[in-house]
Amino acid sequence: DTVRLSDMAKQMGVKAQDLIKTLFGLGVMATINQSLDFDTASVLAAEFGYEAENVAFDEQEYLLPPEEDSPDSLKPRAPVVTIMGHVDHGKTSLLDAIRKTNVTGGEAGGITQHIGAYHVKTGRGEIVFLDTPGHEAFTTMRKRGAQVTDIVILVVAADDGVMDQTREAVSHAKAAQVPIVVAVNKIDKEGSNPDRVMRELSDLGLVPEAWGGETIFANVSAKQHTGLDELLEMVLLQAEVLQLQANPDKPGRGHVVEAKLDKGRGPVGTVLISEGTIRQSDSFVCGMVHGKIRAMFTDQGQKIQEAGPSTPVEIQGFDTIAEAGDEFVVVADDKVAKRIASIRLGKHRDKELAGKAKVTLESFLASRPENEAQDLNLIVKADVQGSLEAVTEALGKLSTDEIHVHVRHGGTGAITESDILLASASDAIIIGFNIRPEARIKDVADQENVEIRFYDIIYKLTNEVKDAMSGMLTPDT
Ligand code: GDP
Repeated sequence: DTVRLSDMAKQMGVKAQDLIKTLFGLGVMATINQSLDFDTASVLAAEFGYEAENVAFDEQEYLLPPEEDSPDSLKPRAPVVTIMGHVDHGKTSLLDAIRKTNVTGGEAGGITQHIGAYHVKTGRGEIVFLDTPGHEAFTTMRKRGAQVTDIVILVVAADDGVMDQTREAVSHAKAAQVPIVVAVNKIDKEGSNPDRVMRELSDLGLVPEAWGGETIFANVSAKQHTGLDELLEMVLLQAEVLQLQANPDKPGRGHVVEAKLDKGRGPVGTVLISEGTIRQSDSFVCGMVHGKIRAMFTDQGQKIQEAGPSTPVEIQGFDTIAEAGDEFVVVADDKVAKRIASIRLGKHRDKELAGKAKVTLESFLASRPENEAQDLNLIVKADVQGSLEAVTEALGKLSTDEIHVHVRHGGTGAITESDILLASASDAIIIGFNIRPEARIKDVADQENVEIRFYDIIYKLTNEVKDAMSGMLTPDT
């Protein structure tokens, strides 16, 4: 943990002689080639108005520089899919059905392991499925900066149609700009009505190709395993449009999708590789955790030596438990890994003390970059559909050339944790209309630093938003 005096001088833009003089003043004799320990460097940096961490001990110096990938280094990679939809519409059943029906002969020897993600091979290509269905996991990851999902399969039960969580899932996927493939499930059931699902989703902007739109629909029965091949084919078709590529020939990177403490094996984590290749014995840093790959296993329980893009692998060798969403990066060696992890831990502590900046109506204008259009993101929850529509329409009309008012999600009923997650991930403010605040939800909102405002008169709401947009709103309104 040292820095050379001459390097430090360069980074601070001062003469080495000045540093030496200052050190002398502090009672430390030093030469230009001297290595300074962190404490001395901090004191010295402070004398010049710097923070040592920012100049001499930044993690960027230890991380391998990101390489520019030449076009011919990019190879196709498999799409990563998350299944979303309303409760009981068949997300888990669909995940299981796909897993069971697509274990190919070569892998049949393996025993399915639940590591948080699995891959299937089809005649047309591979697909990776994340094992935690639903939009909470998806948005929690996204909030932490990890967008690992390429395509969302939206499951809608044909006998039930579009429900609250279906709408939420659509909002979450749209906010993340991830394309949706619709699986109309339970078509085996009496009373199933796929046409109604198509109509209801069209109202949400997911217009089927058959009706001149762009959304791919597939009819399936997770129970009877029908339509699964077609669904996978549609996913791969959508993936082709996305032209998913990555360079496998460089040090590996990826994201943690699941992590836990395993009795006997210690902390393990499933990492989905996004680019490069990871190998046994690689040193890595992963959020504030570091380690060395002791062993890695596939979702079939097979031990492997290396893993490339879009491969989910369970890794042993973390020093403590990582967190889902953490970025996993291979670094030069153990020392570097430890160093970066400790820098991050320090920064994390500082941040916890400082608190995350909150988006509020009052602060909205202040954060606006000069001469640039800005989005005011809102999530609206109202008592009934009628007032939701009225509020959404009234808010939409407030947009100006400089400030675009976006209602990122609208729904009826109480504000849920999912609304708060979405707000936090999209820097949005939540508007409650004709509904009452709940203590529990307020706590979650406080934790996530999300602002919730309640109204019961539309003009009061629009006036305040207008005031905020013109910078008139004073705190405490
Ligand atoms: P999830 O909450 O979305 O994960 O839904 P589940 O996968 O747990 O399924 C909810 C219920 O619907 C279970 O009782 C399943 O057996 C049933 N189910 C799922 N898919 C089908 C299907 O294709 N046809 C029929 N008839 N039932 C299904």
